[in-house]
Order: sequence, then C-alpha cells, then structure tokens
Amino acid sequence: MKKKKADRPVRTEIQNILEKFCISAAAYHGGDLNGVCARRLMAHSEAIFSNIQPYLLAYEHDGRCSDEYIQHFCDLYRSIFATLDVITAKLRIKSGCAHEDDCMTLERSLKNLQQLWNAANLSHTPKLHALLSHAPKQMRKFKGIGDLLEDDVEKMHQIAGNFESRSSRLKSATGRAVAQAKMEAMSHNNLVQKHMQLSQQLSKRKSDVDDIKKQKGKVLKTERDQKRLESLDKIEQNPIPKLITAYEKLKDESKKPNN
Ligand SMILES: [Zn+2]
Repeated sequence: MKKKKADRPVRTEIQNILEKFCISAAAYHGGDLNGVCARRLMAHSEAIFSNIQPYLLAYEHDGRCSDEYIQHFCDLYRSIFATLDVITAKLRIKSGCAHEDDCMTLERSLKNLQQLWNAANLSHTPKLHALLSHAPKQMRKFKGIGDLLEDDVEKMHQIAGNFESRSSRLKSATGRAVAQAKMEAMSHNNLVQKHMQLSQQLSKRKSDVDDIKKQKGKVLKTERDQKRLESLDKIEQNPIPKLITAYEKLKDESKKPNN
C-alpha cells in the first residue's frame, strides 16, 4: 500500500534533502556527520534550509509546530551554520598566516554565534566554551592555528580507511593486517615518500592544467570568503529573537489572567 505523505517520517525526508547536497549521516560515525559532510552543511546552509523550510511548512499533521515556529527555527539554524562556516574558515588558517582582519572577523562571528546559540537554547558545552573564549586568543597568539587543530585525527581516520579499502580483497584477516601494517610502514618511510612526491611532481609537470586549476581554486576561495562576509553582515544586521518552545508559550499563556 502506498503511504500517504504525512505517514512518511520527517527525518527520512530531511535526510533525502541533505543527500542532495552530498551530506549523509554515515553509519560508521554513529549517525553523526563526518568532517567533510559537516563542512558541506555549513557551506550550503542557505540553500539547504531553503529546501527544508518549505518542506516542513507543507507538512500536514495535527501535532505539527506553527508556521511561525518553523520559520523562526529555520532562520536560527541557517544563521548558526553560516556563522560556523565563517568561524571554521578562519580557524583553518595556518599558523603565521592570519592577519588582523581575520582575527577581527573571527571575533565578530563568535559574538554572533554566542547570541544565536542562546537564542536557540543550546547548551554551553566545554567545546563551545573552548571555541568562544580560547580559540580567538590562541589564533591571535600564533597568528592562525589551522595546522594545530584536531582535524588531523579526522585525517588519520581517512588514511586508515584508505589502507583498509586497499587491502579489502585479501581473504584472511592476518593477511589484511600484514598488508595494512606494510602500508603504514611505507607511509612513514622517508625514502618511499620522497619517491612518491617526486613521481607526483613529474606527472604534474606535463601540463599547465594544474596551474589553471590552482588559479581557479584561488578565485573560488576569495569568492567564498566574500560570500561568508556578506552573510556575516546580514546576520549581524538582523538579530534573531530567542526561540520559545510550544511548551514555554503555553506556560506563558496560562499565566495571563484572561479566563
Ligand atoms: Zn576555559
């Protein structure tokens, strides 16, 4: 039997929307997003919420939140992700490379984040505290901390995943373990690494395509930075009020002496 629209779980439909932006809740991360997908969510928050909001507003269900609440909620989270996008872009700048305006943009966006975070009634975790009060100081101190972040842990997962897929056709577990150990040893061997780099450089020299790609990448990066600054301005100019849950609203209304 074909299910009616209202019977389909909202969660699945939201996941479908995210899939359109190549964002998937990976099973191996316990349903959380991996680093790459989290970045995509931040980078495309505007477009993503332009999909989610109309979907939620069109959803028919007796127990659904008000249109007003859905709009407010989407506005808030769109802004939170856009702000986090600016923040992570600045935090990824490598040590020695950040300028005064980078630090100032970071501080501005952190101030926005704090306000938005409170408006969304999100909890103040130790990670948030570290981000709000320690990250900007560290960034000023080292003029960038992008090469000192725990992104490396994420990278190690990716490398391990690569070793695993390269040895996945070996039938015995021991054989796989040995092959993975060999790959790891090779990745630490300076001589092997030097040869790999050299052969990569040699293959690169054949064309100017890479140079053009690099140039294009630079242009795209400045365009993205420009867009990020624009959305930061927009968020600053339109502060979003605190999100009041349906329950809190009911509580407030029951206090009013109108019946
Ligand atoms: Zn502290």
